[in-house]
Amino acid sequence: MQIIAKCPGCGNRWLLDAWAADRRIKCPKCHRLFKIPKLDEVPKATKVIRQAKGPVYVDQTGKTYG
Ligand SMILES: [Zn+2]
Repeated sequence: MQIIAKCPGCGNRWLLDAWAADRRIKCPKCHRLFKIPKLDEVPKATKVIRQAKGPVYVDQTGKTYG
């Protein structure tokens, strides 16, 4: 399971693993810190890709269990 998040600084889209949900990451290009939302609070700028591996569970810290 992966997340596509758009950097609010430079507009680049980054493919992230699910662990990034509900955490701050640093953009590899412009080095801006931005927040990755929880998977159940995903805004329009972020897409969640669900792979066909069965259910994925997310806890309060953003960790996932597949
Ligand atoms: Zn950026």
